[in-house]
Amino acid sequence: MDYLKLSELLFPNIDKTPDYYENLYPERQLKEGARVTRFAPSPTGFLHFGNLFTCLVSYKTAETTNGVFYVRVEDTDSKRKVEGAIEVMLKGLSVYGIVPDEGVIGENTEKGEYGPYYQSNRKDIYQAYAKSLVIQGLAYPCFMTPDELDEIRSAQENESIKGIWGKWAKHRDLSYEEIERRINAGELWTLRLRSTGTPEGKCFFDDMIKGKIEMPENVQDVVILKSDGIPTYHFAHAVDDHLMRTTHVVRGDEWISSTPIHLQLFRVLGFKPPKYAHVAPIMKEENGGKRKLSKRKDPEAAVTYYAEEGYPSESVNEYMLTLANSNFEDWRRMNKTESLEKFPFNLKKMSVSGALFDMAKLSDVSKNVISTMSAQKVFELSYEWAKEYNAELAALYEKDKERAAAILNIDRENKKPRKDIAKWSDIPDYISYMYDETFKPCYELTGNATPALAVKVLEKYIDTVNLSDDKDAWFSRIKDMCEGVGCTPNVKDYKSEPEKFAGHVGDVSTVIRVALTGRTNTPDLYSITALLGAETVKQRLTDALKHYREEA
Ligand code: GLU
Repeated sequence: MDYLKLSELLFPNIDKTPDYYENLYPERQLKEGARVTRFAPSPTGFLHFGNLFTCLVSYKTAETTNGVFYVRVEDTDSKRKVEGAIEVMLKGLSVYGIVPDEGVIGENTEKGEYGPYYQSNRKDIYQAYAKSLVIQGLAYPCFMTPDELDEIRSAQENESIKGIWGKWAKHRDLSYEEIERRINAGELWTLRLRSTGTPEGKCFFDDMIKGKIEMPENVQDVVILKSDGIPTYHFAHAVDDHLMRTTHVVRGDEWISSTPIHLQLFRVLGFKPPKYAHVAPIMKEENGGKRKLSKRKDPEAAVTYYAEEGYPSESVNEYMLTLANSNFEDWRRMNKTESLEKFPFNLKKMSVSGALFDMAKLSDVSKNVISTMSAQKVFELSYEWAKEYNAELAALYEKDKERAAAILNIDRENKKPRKDIAKWSDIPDYISYMYDETFKPCYELTGNATPALAVKVLEKYIDTVNLSDDKDAWFSRIKDMCEGVGCTPNVKDYKSEPEKFAGHVGDVSTVIRVALTGRTNTPDLYSITALLGAETVKQRLTDALKHYREEA
């Protein structure tokens, strides 16, 4: 067979050679050890938490080596294309601090010397490489129809090796004349790799995450160009990651099974293969078992969920690192205030079988992160969130922004800040009693506090409360009231002789707390009282007294 002639028949319009592209996209001049990684989304517009996670791993792999992280859009499947999807995805990434150095940086906006970065604009490049494979006798046109392929699939049901290979590769050796005749008759063809593999052959590779892997070699004559001349994922992956000089391919581990195909393609194309890092999917526990985090079943599978609920991006990033690297939490304990960029991320510390998504853990991580933020930061971030997702909270804030920030500062900016807020959507409830509009009285008491005690306490407190007290004076006033209502200011005394008292200073405080906030557990009551203001304090104490008088 005259392969050169065949290549001209198949690709009459392709005049560039692989050499041309090799020169156009030379090796990158990077420092020793710098890694080049990428995120290669299909433009569906939906960003799955697992994609974000894999993307973060890819990004960190480049970032920690001062390498290059780029975005390539895998838009060869026009059925899956969604308008505006790239903008949405890039915005989703940037929220989590992932900004590509290169590649697609906005809808139809590219940056860098290794483009185009939309696969749909790379057709000529793929075809130049496909043509060169044909010239070398390493690829051939296949005219099998979908029906014929279906028949083969059914016939192979009990075969251990499936696909187009061996006797099933019916069009491997068609003559030039036959090919020409079919093409002239308008038959559609795909281009298949003439696989060099044998059923006994083995394929080895050292995955950066999974370790050494041994698999059967690829024997299939896989399709590399579809009948419309568009490459399959396999072929585009090899050509693009080679020409874009990717050093580390970080991708989902569903691609492991295809890696023998990819390594074979790299070999026949004369490319040095990249290193692979296959990331296991994020799992969820269900009925004692584990399953993949699912777009259909789990709202938290959508990255938009975190923004909607108001998890700060710092929390999500921190949480993703706990999922990514088993030593992250130890590092965090030793480096409490260090920024996440300082963490020495390591592919080797990734979970092999899939990290478990745990909402309670995310919540704890986030509470910690938020507890270390300044009140101003909490105010600003939650205000931004509220403007988009909770107009009521935004309106409350806007009544008096300084007061709002002061409310958020209660028990914050100190050595042991409270950890009540996991996400901005917790705030409306958390601060509801600080605003008359949202305060819901609830007069349930705990401990030794009874309605009868409450009546006594409130009768006294209404007359003694003084909003110009400092904290010590405020507390002394409460303690001084204790004896008059049959309680002791000293908890220890109460504990040694409980029968002598109606309660202790804690119970007296409970009455005041419940009257002012409708809750038995709140942050610092002194600050709350001060921020409520004299008028509201009087009103709430009076209302509570009225309630308990009726109840007692
Ligand atoms: N477009 C592929 C996907 O979304 C990319 C896989 C890869 O990173 O190579 O699964």
